[in-house]
Amino acid sequence: MPKQETSLLVNIGQLLTLRSPAAKPGPRRGPDLKELGIIKDAAVLCLGGKIVSVGTTKDALRDSWVKNTIKKNRKQITEVDCSGKVVLPGFVDSHTHPVFTTPRLIDFEKRITGASYEQIAAAGGGIRASIAGVRNATVADLASHVTHALEQMAAHGTTTVEAKSGYGLTLESELKSLRAIREAASKWPGTVVATLLGAHTVPKEFQGCSQKYVEIVCREMIPRATRERLAQFVDVFCEKVAFSPQETEQIFVAAESNGLAVRAHVGQLSETALEPLLRFNPASFDHLDYASDGDILQLAKHDTVATLVPGVNYFLGIKQYADARRLVDAGVPVALATDYNPGTSPTTSMPMAMSLACTQMKLAPSEAIAAATLNGAWALRLAGRKGSIEAGKDADLAIFDADDYREIPYWFGVNRCVMTVMNGRVVSRK
Ligand SMILES: [Zn+2]
Repeated sequence: MPKQETSLLVNIGQLLTLRSPAAKPGPRRGPDLKELGIIKDAAVLCLGGKIVSVGTTKDALRDSWVKNTIKKNRKQITEVDCSGKVVLPGFVDSHTHPVFTTPRLIDFEKRITGASYEQIAAAGGGIRASIAGVRNATVADLASHVTHALEQMAAHGTTTVEAKSGYGLTLESELKSLRAIREAASKWPGTVVATLLGAHTVPKEFQGCSQKYVEIVCREMIPRATRERLAQFVDVFCEKVAFSPQETEQIFVAAESNGLAVRAHVGQLSETALEPLLRFNPASFDHLDYASDGDILQLAKHDTVATLVPGVNYFLGIKQYADARRLVDAGVPVALATDYNPGTSPTTSMPMAMSLACTQMKLAPSEAIAAATLNGAWALRLAGRKGSIEAGKDADLAIFDADDYREIPYWFGVNRCVMTVMNGRVVSRK
């Protein structure tokens, strides 16, 4: 791991602190999602991987503690003149599938011509192509793919990433995927949270007897991943084409008894009844293109975050997006993520996800920013350390070449991130 630095960022045009407006506990909801806690002409001092001081440039330079720190550490301190740019908490991409080997170009081209899921599979595409790639790869091969994805994500301002397994679907290849995540994470200055997604789809060998596969997930994968400390979360794709609500509960029970927290893919292709799953206190429910009024009311009463992934709808050409406005206005805590994966969302760009959230889901730019930072941290149970720029939190920052934060989702398809700070380590882009 690279050495942490002492750094002082000054002359920040807009510093988006995301500090709580009224010290309200829990993830951001309703009108609070818009509160960015902006400081103009700001400065941030980072020491030992943590944020130690936040204020205006004038106050920072006048503050004797900051002055003494600069004086004592003159040689080691990295002074960054942000020249009026925008600085915000590094993005928390709380839903990604980075353990795969090749892009799914057959799917991409066939789908454009209107081919069905079955036709794509018959042509050698679909999820099975990813599974074959992962089963045949070594840990080192997979780790290099994950590393490449993490570097791309950081280049776009992301400093914390949730990374799922899920293209192995055997005990050994799921563990291999998690080991690849661990290996890549150990070399990256940002923060990675690993999730076991053994229940991504029912593998071909278990078609028609999914229960046998669920037992492997519960009795073999979850205990081994726990014992080897390879995952913090267990995820399930709960959908008609994948695992039933009953199977999801069964997997959640196994996760709970092994001490792992849970999250789930729900409501992507059809409505999933969420209330029975809420008793497991999931960290997040992801997708939610379909959700009933009753479940939305329930979600508004819980801290389970609704993680929306508009890149999927964009890439698949689905006109209908998750109804983010309905969720936010009902008081459901909403996060945004890329859902980076080879089949349905091959993007590492959180600004792109935010742009789609604004133009297609009608979130305000301020709401998209809070959803991509602080609420993403809540979705990973890391809000005590990540997602806002406050003294005591991890020094995770993104610097954008912009005068106004609204430019981040505005300039779509280009990367305006010029620098990131990850656990105190400054990484320049340009
Ligand atoms: Zn996913």
